[in-house]
Amino acid sequence: MKNRILFLMIATVAMFRVNAQNNDTKIILITLDGFRWQELFTGADSLLIGNKDYVHEPEMLKKAFWRDTPSERREALLPFFWSQVVKMGQIHGNRKLESKVDLTNSMWFSYPGYNEILTGTADDKNIRSNDKIPNPNTTVLELYNNAAEGKGKVAAFGSWDVFPSIVNEERSGVPVNAGFESAIGNLNEREKFLNQLQNQIPSPWGSVRLDAFTHHYALENMKKEHPKLVFISYGETDDFAHDGDYQAYLKSAHNIDGLIKAVWEFTQQDDFYKDQTVFLITTDHGRGTEPLDTWRSHGSDINGAGSVWMIAFGKNVDPKGEVKEEEQLYSNQIAPTILKILGIPVPKEIEGKPIKL
Ligand SMILES: [Zn+2]
Repeated sequence: MKNRILFLMIATVAMFRVNAQNNDTKIILITLDGFRWQELFTGADSLLIGNKDYVHEPEMLKKAFWRDTPSERREALLPFFWSQVVKMGQIHGNRKLESKVDLTNSMWFSYPGYNEILTGTADDKNIRSNDKIPNPNTTVLELYNNAAEGKGKVAAFGSWDVFPSIVNEERSGVPVNAGFESAIGNLNEREKFLNQLQNQIPSPWGSVRLDAFTHHYALENMKKEHPKLVFISYGETDDFAHDGDYQAYLKSAHNIDGLIKAVWEFTQQDDFYKDQTVFLITTDHGRGTEPLDTWRSHGSDINGAGSVWMIAFGKNVDPKGEVKEEEQLYSNQIAPTILKILGIPVPKEIEGKPIKL
């Protein structure tokens, strides 16, 4: 009898410890719009890097990113992912090794992709365009913001100006800084300067800003407000690809790898985030490969645009490295995984199943 009581006491203490640990966990969800698994796992594409149709300075570009083997090429392109993340986390989606990550929506463009990532359920009936329609579905950002432990502890930053609609900023109450929005509220000197610069460095595009702005707005907010769930969506890779500018696409991917490294390093020297933070990184859709020009495009008529990838590292993530065995993951699993890590019940309607990291 005594033993049983002792056992119950130990079990109860253990349970509380698990709960407390869960509640301390922070999550940074990051996306690179339309960045292909092909470049993630094999680096610069041999058919594109020297191709005058897509690259105007091939010698410079080759010097930066061309190497003899795919593993050297990917490390030259994405040094943080392939020297550090691969040692501390998991990299899923190398289809050459039978590790597959796919979208479950059949649209294969951005709003349906982000809706799937953020809600855990594809919605081909309602999410059929990139129009700025307030999302009828509930994202994990909203669910967490509606939970006692997450109230006012969520923030979203995006380069694309459709995110206020995707997150349904108005209904969810989740603050979204996206497109060409300035930082608002009680601003520090860096945010004031970013607001000024954003007006003085024109973006090449009408609806997407350059990623450095998104990145620094997010970082400054994390320093000040310490949100527990942060969403950062970088956008340049997709737009440079649509422009047919492979040179800019690669340089942008390389730059974002460095930006993500900076976010990681910030979390590791900040008491609130240090050793308590999980990073999840993915993309909203793939792009084509065949015929060659389809690397610029995506959508349901482009072969391979439903193939994506997923990276996880940080607190309690098993350092499996690059996954080299047969597996099938889906983008709709990210949202329930986030809820599970944060200790929030996963609603029954969510189609995706949480991933054991
Ligand atoms: Zn696109």
